[in-house]
Amino acid sequence: MKSQSHPSPGTVYLIGAGPGDPDLITVRGAEILKAADVIVYDRLANPELLSYTRTESEHIYVGKRPGKPSVSQSQINEILASKAREEKSVARLKGGDSFVFGRGGEECEALAASGVPYEVVPGISSSLAAPAYAGIPLTYRNEARSFTVVTGHILDGENPCANWEYLVHADTLVILMGMRNLGVISEKLIQFGRHPGTPVAVIERATYEEQNVVAGRLDNIADRAKELSSPATIVVGEMVEKGRELAWFRKNLDQPELQVEFNSKFVG
Ligand code: SAH
Repeated sequence: MKSQSHPSPGTVYLIGAGPGDPDLITVRGAEILKAADVIVYDRLANPELLSYTRTESEHIYVGKRPGKPSVSQSQINEILASKAREEKSVARLKGGDSFVFGRGGEECEALAASGVPYEVVPGISSSLAAPAYAGIPLTYRNEARSFTVVTGHILDGENPCANWEYLVHADTLVILMGMRNLGVISEKLIQFGRHPGTPVAVIERATYEEQNVVAGRLDNIADRAKELSSPATIVVGEMVEKGRELAWFRKNLDQPELQVEFNSKFVG
């Protein structure tokens, strides 16, 4: 391992905190967090990570606060730039990876426009970690050659940006932020040619002790997973079936009551 890296004053570090279990942050991310002057974090970054930080460090929460107006992206950009201009080292901690639905690109653009130096420390995205913790390989030799990660936020059935023709062709489809639209998403994937029996898993609070996985098929997953809530990652495709044998973390997919008969040949 390289010698310890110290954050530079006046620099912003966009650090991916990983999916939940605090041990899943990178060594570099943890080292910068330990030494930074200011920590700017939001909801999905595990707050346990804050215990790594120096007692003198300043902690700024910029996530959603019930009953209070949320901090806007431009306010966050402003906080990052102004703390850096005070010659402080700033750790911007984000859930998963900052460049996967984390608005990291926007924050870098704003910092670049203000002339503030920044560094991106990659994190383990939930799009990778949730399937891994459910024993679902995203690719598999000769069986699954591609995976696609998409936001389910816009997949409400009406949005013209949704490219269903493309989405049905991913061997493994990983959907983040999709719980609200799970019913529509499943219907649309069937309508655009995915077999109704295609296996689907919903992984709730992946990597946390209370991780919960519900498996089903495209034609029944919305009903089966209706008790689950955000944050949850949806995985669609034949590889989900492997999770029944390969589940290792709390053996979630091993629960007999979750087992369903799969018939998942692609139609069309
Ligand atoms: N940048 C993050 C994603 C932010 S979008 C990353 O790379 O992981 C937020 C979405 O991520 C949630 O709606 C959910 O779909 C997913 N997610 C985040 N943490 C999760 C977790 N512990 N378990 C399952 N899904 C999670």
